[in-house]
Amino acid sequence: MKGRNSVKDIRVRNRAAVLRRVVLVGETTRAVLANECALSPATVTSVVGDLIREGLVEEHGSLPSDGGRPIARLRPVGAGAHLIGVDVGEHGVTAELFDLSLRRMDRVFHRLPTRVTSPGQVADTLGAAFHQLRTANPESDETLIGIGLGLPGIVGTAEDGTNIIHAQSLGWEPTALGEVVGSTDVPIFADNGAKTLAMAETWFGAAAGQSHSIVVLMGRGLGIGVIAGGQLLRGSSSSAGEWGHIKVSLGGPTCQCGARGCLEAYVGGSAVVGRWRRAGTDVTGSDEEALAGLLDAADSGNATAARLLDETLEILGLGLANLVNLFNPDQLVIGGWAGLRLVERRHAQLDQYIAEFALMRPADNVTTVLSKVGDDAVALGAALLPLEQFIDGNLPARSAPLSNGTRSLLAHSVRAAGQRRPIRLPLSPGHHQRPAAPVTATAAGDRFLVSGSGPLLSDQWSHPTDRVPLR
Ligand SMILES: [Zn+2]
Repeated sequence: MKGRNSVKDIRVRNRAAVLRRVVLVGETTRAVLANECALSPATVTSVVGDLIREGLVEEHGSLPSDGGRPIARLRPVGAGAHLIGVDVGEHGVTAELFDLSLRRMDRVFHRLPTRVTSPGQVADTLGAAFHQLRTANPESDETLIGIGLGLPGIVGTAEDGTNIIHAQSLGWEPTALGEVVGSTDVPIFADNGAKTLAMAETWFGAAAGQSHSIVVLMGRGLGIGVIAGGQLLRGSSSSAGEWGHIKVSLGGPTCQCGARGCLEAYVGGSAVVGRWRRAGTDVTGSDEEALAGLLDAADSGNATAARLLDETLEILGLGLANLVNLFNPDQLVIGGWAGLRLVERRHAQLDQYIAEFALMRPADNVTTVLSKVGDDAVALGAALLPLEQFIDGNLPARSAPLSNGTRSLLAHSVRAAGQRRPIRLPLSPGHHQRPAAPVTATAAGDRFLVSGSGPLLSDQWSHPTDRVPLR
C-alpha cells in the first residue's frame, strides 16, 4: 500500500503549492515562493524547473539583486493550459474562456428559451455555447483541460461518483450532470453557483486570505458560500448554504421551492422586483433595471418605493444577522446583481439592521463588504473547479500546439530515422535545462508518437505521451 507521505505524494503536494501560488499572484520569484509555500529554496528550484519543463511556468526578465546574480521573475505561461467556466444563470448561459494566468480570453452568452427551463433546454444551450466558444478559439482548445459549471440548485455526488443536480426551485427531478451537459471530450466539473462565486472571492476577492467569511449571492434567488476555518462548508450532501430557503415566517408568500415563508420569497431579487411591479408602478425593462428604478424612486421621495425598500433591507438584515449568529464570520461579502445594487446604495442602513438583530458580540466582529470580483464572477469561480483539479495533479495536461516550424522539423527528422525507430528530438536552442527524460518521437502512420517532456525548438512539449498529427 502506498504510504500517505510517499516521496511522490510530497512532490505532488509541493508542485501544487508552487503552481497555485504562481497562478494566484501572477508574478513572483523563487525566493518569495520558498517563503510563501514554506519550502526550502532547493525544493522550490526543483519544482519550478519541473513546471518550466511542463510549459506551465516561465521566467520573464529579472530583478536586480545586491551584488549577486539577477533574480529571475516567474509567471504562469498563459498558453500552458486553458479552462472554460460557465454560469448557468437566470436568463441564460455565460461561458468564458480563461488561460492559465486566468486572463479572460473570450465570453459568449446564450439566452435560455424560457425563465423556467428543463434540463434538455439547458443541455442544448450549453452545447451551443461550448461550440461557439471552442470553434472561435481553436488554438486554446488544444490545451483545454476542463470545463467548470456554476449551477442553480444543489450539486451532490452519487455513490458512483457522478454529480447529481437537485434544482427544486426549477422544478427538476434529481438530474445527472450528464443530462445537463451532454457528452464532451474534456472533463466537466460542477458546483452550486453561490459556491463557485465564493471560490472566486476566496482566490481573488474580498475573502482572499480570510478564514471566516460568508459570500452572499443575491440574484433572482439567494445563496451563500460559508468559508469557515479557510474551508468552504459543504455539509453532508453539499447543500450547506441554501440560505434562501430558511423560513422567516409561518405561512407567508410561496417560494420557488414550493414552500412558504422562505427568505428568498421576500428578498430574492425577483421577489423584490415582483412586489415593485405589483405596487402599480409602471415598471419596464429587466429585473436589474427595475431594481435600479426602485432605488432611484425611493431616493427621490416616492413613498411606496421607500417603504418597499425599507422592508426589504429590514428582512435582508434579519437574514444576515441570523448568519452572523450562526457562523460568527469576520465579514459578509455581498455579491450578485441584486446584492451589489442594494448594498452600494444602502450599506449603512443594512448594517444597522444587522447590528439590531444579531447578538452584540458576533455583530461587533463582522463587517459587510461588497464583492470585489463583481456580479458576473460565477463563471470565473466555476473555471477554478477544473483548475484546482489540475493544480492538485488530478487532471493531465493536454497537448500544447506545436508551431508549424517545429512540426515540419519533426516530420523531417522522423522520416530520416525511418519507421519505428524513436529519435531524440531537438531541444530549444540556448535552453540550459535538460529535460527530465529525453523527448523522443516515433512515426506511427500519419502521426508521430511523442514521449517525454521538455522544450522543443521554440515550443514547450510537456506531455508524457501524445500523438502529434502532421497537418
Ligand atoms: Zn424556498
